[in-house]
Amino acid sequence: MKDNVLTQDIIAKVQENVDIVDVISGYLPLSNKGKNFFGVCPFHSDHSPSMSVSREKQIYKCFSCGASGNVFNFVMNYENVSFIDAVKILASKAGIPLNIKTSNYKDNGRLQVLYDIFDVTQKFYKNNINTKDGEKALEFIKNRKFDLNIIKDFDLGLSLKEDDKLVNLLMKKGFNQTDMLRTGLVNKSERGLKDMYINRIMFPIYNLQGNLVGYSGRIFNGEKLNKYFNTKETEIFKKGEILYNYHRAKNAVKDKEQVIVVEGFFATIRLHTIGVDNVVATLGTAFTKNHASILKRMAKEIVLCFDGDNAGSDATNSCIKELEKVGVIPKIIRLEDNLDPDDYVLKYGKDRMLEKINNPMNIMDYKLNYYKKNKDLTNTQDLSKYVNEMIDELKLIDDDIYRELTLKKLSDISKISVEILKQKLDDIEVATKIPRYEMVNKKLSKYDMAERNLLFYALNNKEIFKKIKDENLKFNNQEYINLIMTVNDYLNEHDTLKISSLLTYFRDNSDMINMLNSLIDLDLKDECSIYEINDYIKVIKERTTKKKMNNLKNNMKEASTKDEKKKLLEQMFNIRKKELEGANKND
Ligand code: ATP
Ligand code: MN
Repeated sequence: MKDNVLTQDIIAKVQENVDIVDVISGYLPLSNKGKNFFGVCPFHSDHSPSMSVSREKQIYKCFSCGASGNVFNFVMNYENVSFIDAVKILASKAGIPLNIKTSNYKDNGRLQVLYDIFDVTQKFYKNNINTKDGEKALEFIKNRKFDLNIIKDFDLGLSLKEDDKLVNLLMKKGFNQTDMLRTGLVNKSERGLKDMYINRIMFPIYNLQGNLVGYSGRIFNGEKLNKYFNTKETEIFKKGEILYNYHRAKNAVKDKEQVIVVEGFFATIRLHTIGVDNVVATLGTAFTKNHASILKRMAKEIVLCFDGDNAGSDATNSCIKELEKVGVIPKIIRLEDNLDPDDYVLKYGKDRMLEKINNPMNIMDYKLNYYKKNKDLTNTQDLSKYVNEMIDELKLIDDDIYRELTLKKLSDISKISVEILKQKLDDIEVATKIPRYEMVNKKLSKYDMAERNLLFYALNNKEIFKKIKDENLKFNNQEYINLIMTVNDYLNEHDTLKISSLLTYFRDNSDMINMLNSLIDLDLKDECSIYEINDYIKVIKERTTKKKMNNLKNNMKEASTKDEKKKLLEQMFNIRKKELEGANKND
C-alpha cells in the first residue's frame, strides 16, 4: 500500500508469526490470570498490574491510562520507534527475513545518499571547530560560560568563512550536485553550488531515530544576520517530526518518567551542564499536534519550561493547547525576569533552577496567572473577562477536588464568592461539558453498550459482522456507522477479520484507530454465544423502533386531517406488529 519498504503481505506475516504475550513478556513480567495476562503498564507511572494482554485477541489494554493496541503499537510506544522499525524488530524476533532490498531497495538507497552526505559534513564541521579556524567560536562558547565539553556532548561544529569548502569536499567525495541540493546544505548560485552555512557554530539536529537530518547554525561574531539559521524542510528534515535532543534525552526521560520541554539549544545545553538530561527543545518552530504525540509517548509527566518573556508565555499557551488535544495536561515552569533557562542558571545558580524543576506549577495555577496578563482586575470589564476565561477552563476539569481548590483560588483572586462562581460554572456545564480529560470506562446506556459490544465481536468475527448487514441493523452512533462502512471495504480485499489486524491496516487513519481503540475492552469474554449476539441485535432494533415510534408520535401531534392521523396510526401498528414477530422469532 503506502509503505515504501514493506508490503501488506509481509506485515501481516510478521503479525501472524509473533505472539503478543511472548513479545510483551520480553519487556516486562506478565502473570497469567484466567484467559488474560497482566502486567504493570509501562506507559504511565504505576505499580499495580493494570495492563491486560489477550493472547486470543492479540491486543493489550491498560485500564488505568487507556493505552491499547496490537503488538506493533506496543513495540512502537515502548521503544519509541516508527511503525516500520517496529515491524523490523518483530520480524527479527520471529526470524522472518525482511527482503527489503528486493522489494524497495531503490527508495531506501535514495535517502541513504542524503545520510551519507550528512555523515561527511558532520565530520568536517566537527573537525573545524578544533582547528585554528575554530578559535573565535571556542571563545564565544567560553564567554557564554560553557565548559568546552559541551562540544563533544552535543556534537557541535563549525562552518567556515569561505563559502565553498563543504561543496568542494562533497564533490571530491563523489556526491552529485542534485543529491547535495536535496540535503539543504548547499545552495545554487550563479557561480555554481555554494555552502549554505558560512561561519556559524553548527548544532546538528537528529530525528527521533538518532539520524542526523539537519542543522541550525548560530552566528558568533556579531554579524548583522539572523542569529540562527535552520536547514530548510527536506525529504528527511521534517520540522514537525523533530524535537531537539530527543535521542539523547530518551533514556533520562525513561528513568525520571518526566520530560522537560524548553525553547532553545542553549537552554537544553545549560540544563545538561547542571545534570538535567531529560530535556528536549522545540526550536522556535510551530509546536504541532505531532510534537504533542511524541511527548505523550515519552513520559507521563511533561513539564514546559519556556523562556520567561512574553513570547515564551505565548508559546507555553499554544503548547498547552496542542497537548490538551492529545489528552495530556502538562506542568509549567515560569522563569522570572524574562529569563530563559540558560540565563536563569547563570543569574540565580544551579540550585534555584533545580528547585524550579522539582516544583513545577500545575496547569490551573498557571492559567490563573496567565489570564491575568494585561488586565486590570479592579476594572469591571477586565475582571468579568478574566472570570469568564477561567470558568471556561474550569469546566474542563473532571477531578472534583482539584476543581474545588481552583475555584477557591479564583474566588480569592477575583473577590467573587465561591457560590456565585460555582453557580456560573454549573450553568455552563450542563450544556457544554466536553469529556476532554480521559474517560476510560465511561458508563454506557444499554443501547450504546449493545452497539459497542456487538461491534466489538463483529470486528473479530466475519460471520457476526455479516449479521449486521443481513439484519439491516441501524446503529445510532455515527462513528460506528462510518467504521462499519470502512470495514465493509476492507472485507472486499480480506478474508478474515480481527481487530488486531485492523489496527495495523488502518494505522495511518487516526480517526479509525481511535475508534478501534475505544472498542477494545478486554473485560469482554473472548467468545460470545449466538444468544448473546441476538440479544444485542434485539436491543439495537428496539432503539430503532423507539426512534421511529417517537417520530410518528411527533407527526401525529402535528397532523391536522383525519386521513393523515389514520395513516400514521397504521404505520405505528405495523411497527408494533413487526416488533412482536421479531421477538417471537428470536425466542
Ligand atoms: P541564545 O542564548 O544564543 O540567544 P537562545 O536559544 O536563547 O540562544 P532564542 O532567541 O531564545 O535563542 O530562541 C530560541 C530558539 O529558537 C533558538 O534556540 C533557536 O532554536 C530558535 N531560533 C531563534 N531565532 C531563530 C532564527 N532566526 N531562525 C531560526 N530559529 C531561531
Ligand atoms: Mn539565550
